[in-house]
Amino acid sequence: MELGSDKFVQKGPAGATLAPKVARQYQCLEAGCDEEIVAPDEASLIEAVQRHVADKHDSFELEAVIVDMSTEVEGEDNRGEDDG
Ligand SMILES: [Zn+2]
Repeated sequence: MELGSDKFVQKGPAGATLAPKVARQYQCLEAGCDEEIVAPDEASLIEAVQRHVADKHDSFELEAVIVDMSTEVEGEDNRGEDDG
């Protein structure tokens, strides 16, 4: 008798992005601008921020910077320490 392998087959497209679908917010870095951009996911946030920066500041923000500077939105009370 042969022991059956109980491994689960993982579903999903091969080229799926690793970024989880989580709402993110980004505080504009431009001096004097306190614009806070919130988007339902990372891709949308990047788009929204780049639009804002191009539109309001005639500038450009790198995708990596936006992702790096953005924070997850976890409900209303999102106050924590500066340093994790
Ligand atoms: Zn701004």
